[in-house]
Amino acid sequence: MSQVFVFLEGKDGTLKKGSVELLTWAKTNGLETSAGAIGADAAGLAKQAGAFGAKVAFASTPSAEGYNPEVYVSLLKEMISASGAQIVLANASALAKDAFPRVAARMDSSVASDCTGLKMDGGKLIALKPLYSGKCTAEVEFESGLNIVLMRSNQLPVMDADGSEADVKTIDAPQASGNVTLEKTVQGASNKPDLTEANVIISGGRGMGEAKNFEILEDLAGTLGATVGASRAVVDAGWVPHGMQVGQTGKTVSPSLYIACGISGAIQHMAGMSGSKVIVAINKDADAPIFQKASYGIVGDIFELAGPLKEELSKALN
Ligand SMILES: Cc1cc2nc3c(=O)[nH]c(=O)nc-3n(C[C@H](O)[C@H](O)[C@H](O)COP(=O)(O)OP(=O)(O)OC[C@H]3O[C@@H](n4cnc5c(N)ncnc54)[C@H](O)[C@@H]3O)c2cc1C
Repeated sequence: MSQVFVFLEGKDGTLKKGSVELLTWAKTNGLETSAGAIGADAAGLAKQAGAFGAKVAFASTPSAEGYNPEVYVSLLKEMISASGAQIVLANASALAKDAFPRVAARMDSSVASDCTGLKMDGGKLIALKPLYSGKCTAEVEFESGLNIVLMRSNQLPVMDADGSEADVKTIDAPQASGNVTLEKTVQGASNKPDLTEANVIISGGRGMGEAKNFEILEDLAGTLGATVGASRAVVDAGWVPHGMQVGQTGKTVSPSLYIACGISGAIQHMAGMSGSKVIVAINKDADAPIFQKASYGIVGDIFELAGPLKEELSKALN
């Protein structure tokens, strides 16, 4: 009987960093771990979980491609029950945020979503959950049922793979009832990590002047391996798509490094990025509110700074 069940997510057949973070946390806390993956590459992902401490990993490949809540919820319930785990960990991805509240309802349990920390206290799990746009953090304890926690990415350390493979148990997927069908999946244009998983983000605001100038940020992002984000002002102006918006009505991000270029730092923007480990702000107005939140601030014009910044970063990284 394991104590922790980790829901695995992958990209191009490899475990996502967020999944490795969860497996690492369970292993470093000495907890018996099992894992589960669903989808075309489920068996491969399940096997990889062994390198981060999961002894057993369940895998299921439904006949229809893509996410179907009915099929996923039924499979997750089966996998979690078979694992015997009391703690269920998943990344706070769009899929998990849709599936796990349903799983919790079916298993008479509750979910803490969008958490930024985990700790064990006398055998009890405590999840840290930011509230009021990150102004305070709640310590969430579960009174009964499964402890289901959806963690934001880039919050926990990762260990190196140790070369082991998990014992993979294949589970047959149920047939979908047809009540819910996936019409189509729209892939993002970028092959960079999604904003919610990115380790480095460069975001642009109205200070970028016009849509074309986002090429400057794309160029800088290429040097740093970063994903480009944006404020709502530029999304509303139609310069970039909504998928790039960071903030209260956009995405909540948690990178190690967030570079805000020409963004004033409105409370609704900060609500989405204040969980970043290091924040660098570039703004020509020394009184811009973003500087109150920034770890490092550069008062200056982004168009004058981008070139030298790229040059210095290239030197430092090569
Ligand atoms: C209900 C609600 C929800 C919202 N949700 C979001 C959200 O999810 N995300 C979000 O971002 N906003 C959101 N907003 C909007 C938010 O209030 C701000 O209007 C928005 O964040 C401002 O975007 P900005 O910082 O790009 O633009 P501005 O506030 O106009 O700031 C532009 C900044 O660029 C600087 N600048 C100008 N030129 C340069 C230059 N050449 N070099 C360097 N700096 C320069 C200026 O000094 C200024 O500080 C929401 C608002 C509401 C009411």
